[in-house]
Amino acid sequence: MERNLVRKGILFVLMGPTGSGKTTFCNRLLSEFSETLHYSVSATSRPIREGEVSGKSYHFLNRAEFLERAGAGEFFEWEETHGNLYGTLRSTLLDGINGGRDLLFQIDIRGALNFKRAFPNNTVTVFILPPSFTDLKGRLRNRGTVDREELAKRFGTAQQEYESLLGLSGDTGKVDYLVVNRDLQETYEQIRSVVISERARYHRMDLPSVRQFCEVEAGE
Ligand code: 5GP
Repeated sequence: MERNLVRKGILFVLMGPTGSGKTTFCNRLLSEFSETLHYSVSATSRPIREGEVSGKSYHFLNRAEFLERAGAGEFFEWEETHGNLYGTLRSTLLDGINGGRDLLFQIDIRGALNFKRAFPNNTVTVFILPPSFTDLKGRLRNRGTVDREELAKRFGTAQQEYESLLGLSGDTGKVDYLVVNRDLQETYEQIRSVVISERARYHRMDLPSVRQFCEVEAGE
C-alpha cells in the first residue's frame, strides 16, 4: 500500500503592485502545478476587462449584489481598491484548507494580512517588487490597456502598498517572502521553490499520516 503524507491546504498569496509580474507568475505556477494548485477566484464589482473570463478571472457582480452577499456574510474578507470591491468567498477558503487543496491568490496586502490573521499556519505570503518605481511606471504605461486616470490610481495604490510593506519590516509571520523581479525566470525559480519547500513543512502534517512512515517493524 502506498503511503502518503496528509496535510492541510496552504493558501499561497502573491502580492505586489500591478505591473510587478504577479499575474505571469501566477499563471506559470498554475500551469506547472496544474494538478495540485488551484486559483482562488475572487469576486469583484469592477467591470470585466477584455480577455477576462467570468467565473475564471473573477466572479463579476454588480456593486449592489456584492454588498448584499457581503452583508449575508458570504465573504471571508473584502476590500475596496481603485474604487471597486474585491473579496474572497468563505466557502472557497474553507474547502481548500480542510480538503488539503492548495490555493493560489493574487490579492492586495490588506487582504493577505486578513488571511494571515485568520489562518496564520496555513497562509504563505510572497511580495513581488519591481526593480524600481521608474521601471514599474514604464511597465504600466507600456501595457496601454488602462487610461491616465486609472494609471495614476495604480501608482497611488503601489505607493500605499510599499508603505504597508515597510511598516511590516521585522514583523515575523506577515510577509514571509520578498522577491525582486529583475529577471522573470530567476524570480519564477524563487517563487516555485517557496511552493515546494512550504509543502514540506512538518507543522502542517497530519500526525497519523506521518506515523505510517515511522512504523518500526520487528526483526531483521
Ligand atoms: P485588478 O482590478 O487589477 O484585477 O485588481 C486590483 C486589486 O484588487 C489587486 O491589487 C488585487 O490583488 C486585488 N484583489 C483581487 N482579488 C481580491 C480579493 O479577493 N480580496 C482583496 N482584498 N483584494 C483583491
